Parts: sequence; C-alpha cells; structure tokens
Amino acid sequence: MDQLEDMERILWTEVEISARVSELAAEISEDLKKSKVPVAVVGVATGSFIFLADIARRITIPISVDLVRVESYGLGTESSGAPRLSSDLKIDVQGKHVIVVEDIVDTGNTLSCLVSHMKSKGASSVSVCTFLDKPTRRKVNPELFGGGTFYRGFECPDYFVVGYGMDFGERYRNLAYIGVLKEEIYRS
Ligand code: 5GP
Ligand code: MG
Ligand code: MG
Repeated sequence: MDQLEDMERILWTEVEISARVSELAAEISEDLKKSKVPVAVVGVATGSFIFLADIARRITIPISVDLVRVESYGLGTESSGAPRLSSDLKIDVQGKHVIVVEDIVDTGNTLSCLVSHMKSKGASSVSVCTFLDKPTRRKVNPELFGGGTFYRGFECPDYFVVGYGMDFGERYRNLAYIGVLKEEIYRS
C-alpha cells in the first residue's frame, strides 16, 4: 500500500529538504573550519540516520562519525519524558567538539540528556544540529544545550510528523519527505 495515503499533508518535500541540508552543512563547515580540536558528529539512532548520512556527506571539514541510541518514545506519539541511553559511543570524544545530530527536538529532554552525557565524557564543547525543531513543546531551555551552536533545519509546527528517518511504530522512516500522519492512523 502506498504510504502517501496515510498522510494528512506534506510539510517538506525531498527537494526542499535537500536544499536545506546543504545550507546547514555549509554553515557547519564554515563555522568549524578553523576548529583547533577534532570534530565528532554523533547521530541519535534510529531517527537521525538519513539526516546524518546526508549532512555528513556534505560537511567539507574532517570529522569522525558515531551513533548513540536513546529510547524515549516507545511505540506511541507521546514522549515518556525519561530518555534512556541504550547504546553508547564507540569513539572517544575527550577534548573534541561534538555535534549531536537529531531528527527532531520536541520537549528537549532527549537532547539535554545527551549533551550532559557528552560533557561527562570530556567533550570540549557540544553543538546540536537538529533537522526539525518543535519549540512550542519545549520543556528544557536551548541555552542549556552545551554552549555550542544550535543548528536547525526547519521549525516544525506542533504536529506528529513522520518520514526522513522519523517513524510511527517503526514505519514511515523510509519516506524521502516529511509528512503529517492522518489522525485516524495514529489514533487507531
Ligand atoms: P524530546 O525528548 O525532545 O521530547 O523528543 C525527542 C525525540 O522524540 C525525537 O528525537 C524523536 O525521536 C521523537 N519525536 C518527537 N517529536 C516527534 C514527531 O513529531 N514525530 C516522530 N516520529 N518522532 C518525534
Ligand atoms: Mg531522535
Ligand atoms: Mg520514534
């Protein structure tokens, strides 16, 4: 069945996403080209996997890449509010500038947990690069996000969105666009 039928509407198309990711990668490359410390790009599995692959290929400075896994949502559309690090870094981030790459920042709980974690591992500074930002539901202040820069692709209205890595019950991650799921899909 075509997954497009499950969408209420499309917020960003593949072409729009691609253009914005290029801009973000250029901004990050420019900001960090004179960095005196190594740069580590850390994606948050599973949701950031497509964004991570796209942005990493367009960043033009040397970086290392790693993944962490955080569980906060379970299968529904509401955050449990208690993110749990279920898979840690492989690389050593001691003395490095870490860029945490996220699919979407909602309450900010996941991110604040990750930023503290990177600092506890000795990161010299932590920036955040999120594809989407839903500021209306924020519970944790972005100023607490590590002293580095807060990069974001798009500001997202307060809908539950899927695609470009983001799921509902592990579905829709493979969509090349960002869509709002029909309410009948996530209420059923
Ligand atoms: P936070 O801890 O900021 O409340 O939630 C962050 C995580 O919740 C995101 O990394 C993402 O995995 C998930 N999330 C938040 N909003 C949405 C949404 O609209 N759609 C999907 N699919 N996941 C979301
Ligand atoms: Mg995420
Ligand atoms: Mg999820």
